[in-house]
Amino acid sequence: MDKKENTENIINRAPIVVVMGHVDHGKSTLLDYIRKTNIVATEAGSITQHTSCYEVHHNDENGTDCKITFLDTPGHEAFSKMRERGSKASDIAILVVSAEDSVKTQTIEAYKTIKENNIPYIVAINKIDKPNANIEKVKMDLVEKEIYLEGMGGDVPFVLISAKTGTGIDELLDMILLVASMQEYKSNTNENASGVVIEAHREPKRGISATCIIKNGTLKSGMFVVCGNTFTNTRIMEDFQGNTIKEATFSSPVRLVGFKEIPAIGSIFTSCKTMKEVEKIIEENQESLDENKIVKNYKKIDGKVIPIIIKADVSGTIEAIEKEIEKLNTEELTFKVITGNVGAINESDIKMASIDKESIIVGFNTKVDNEALNLNENMKVQIETFDIIYKLTDFLKEVYADRRPRIDSLEIIGQLKVLKTFGGSKERQIIGCKVISGKVTDDSLVNIIRRDFKLGEGKVVGLQLVKNKTKEVVEGTDCGVQIESKIEIAVGDILEATIITTI
Ligand code: GDP
Repeated sequence: MDKKENTENIINRAPIVVVMGHVDHGKSTLLDYIRKTNIVATEAGSITQHTSCYEVHHNDENGTDCKITFLDTPGHEAFSKMRERGSKASDIAILVVSAEDSVKTQTIEAYKTIKENNIPYIVAINKIDKPNANIEKVKMDLVEKEIYLEGMGGDVPFVLISAKTGTGIDELLDMILLVASMQEYKSNTNENASGVVIEAHREPKRGISATCIIKNGTLKSGMFVVCGNTFTNTRIMEDFQGNTIKEATFSSPVRLVGFKEIPAIGSIFTSCKTMKEVEKIIEENQESLDENKIVKNYKKIDGKVIPIIIKADVSGTIEAIEKEIEKLNTEELTFKVITGNVGAINESDIKMASIDKESIIVGFNTKVDNEALNLNENMKVQIETFDIIYKLTDFLKEVYADRRPRIDSLEIIGQLKVLKTFGGSKERQIIGCKVISGKVTDDSLVNIIRRDFKLGEGKVVGLQLVKNKTKEVVEGTDCGVQIESKIEIAVGDILEATIITTI
């Protein structure tokens, strides 16, 4: 292909938009509203199926039909890592702020991510239909966080919306096209497609599928798509609505089926025309393979680490679980994710877990296969499966509480003055004492003090109060004490009673 032909194929592409903001501020509602009202369904029912990306059509100010691609990542807070990655794949961010709750911690986190990735953004002040909505407060709170909206001393565009009623959504789509027109996203249709993996999972009947968003070039059937150490052919290539396609170009989400391994979400994919090229790209990618990292991490594990093997139904969930796990980790005890894979818990998971008896395998929406069950009859690895993330988190919290390292501390609980000695063997002495402060118990340890010097230690093995055995004697009381110690206790010595408390 000559150079002229190449540059002629550089054309504007549709903007890829990510929606960010604090939990419950209305991201999912907004994405659902746009999805429902702007996608022209090509097949009955296709709109309702959840996809991680979708394309909508919207007319720009000149009445030209334009496309916008939305990344639709799950709304759970634990999926924010995925959303961060989403922002890397995207061109424009919508920062949703509830007019009722105003700026919150995740609003700021999202803003930081937007800034780090240096992408233009639009503030959508949502829930303006609510009686408690306070738009002016939101604007002021944003200014305080150095987000200067238009009309508030800055140039950040904003739109007032209600994701519930649809008010302002058209204006928001207009604004997206306006921002896009100023940015000019250009790509080359003549190049081999490259872009970002948005979602990946194993489908029961078809195998491993991944939704990829093309940022440059064209993908045609017959080509190969390579991502990290895995690849697929393009025999099964679908648009976001599940329709079979033969070709796709930039900004379009495509679903590809037939990957050999699950590609990592957020990773870059490239494409090529021959298997030879596939092998070459995989070789180049080899260095950054996650598996290498995993092996390195595993060797570092020490006593305060609990290795975790995660198995889940979709890779997005693995990330969500990892994020939850990270939150539990402290210097005292760390849950270290050794591997996170999609699929049932199998023999190799059991083998890997059995290397360290502290290991736990957690499954989310997945089963333990029969071979693994058989193997585990002997291995006895702890395996727990869940279908709700918070239950999994609660379980790990319990494990944390049970297994965190205990620190023993010696607490002084009282002082005794030795009044009489009654002999006994040197190592098991019977003495008469007065408790001069605090108390002594029948399992106390004692420091033996003579003229302000600690001579040594002993252990209370029996306690008597007026010839009767007792468990505890308190301040002001005389008692008989049986002590095991190598030090010969003398009248006038002070015994400091201590107990070990574990915290
Ligand atoms: P997300 O966590 O940011 O995805 O928030 P959701 O989209 O799940 O919204 C959280 C709650 O706010 C849900 O109960 C929505 O129905 C509600 N909600 C979202 N947008 C609006 C809105 O514009 N107006 C009103 N009244 N409720 C909204």
